[in-house]
Amino acid sequence: MRQDIHPEYYQAKVTCNCGNTFTVGSTKEEIHVEICSKCHQFYTGTQKANAVRGRIEKFNRKYGVKAEG
Ligand SMILES: [Zn+2]
Repeated sequence: MRQDIHPEYYQAKVTCNCGNTFTVGSTKEEIHVEICSKCHQFYTGTQKANAVRGRIEKFNRKYGVKAEG
């Protein structure tokens, strides 16, 4: 029985949109991602986002800015 030919396995250099780089085992030499574990929390941090929005609303109220929507 013939063995399957395994694809080349690299320690791929991953470059994220946020500028973070890290290596990961992959069949590709280089990978470009939009979100990594470093900036992922900004997208998943709903609590944080709500806190920021609350601050903006307070600011708008204080200075009489009417929020759109
Ligand atoms: Zn990132």
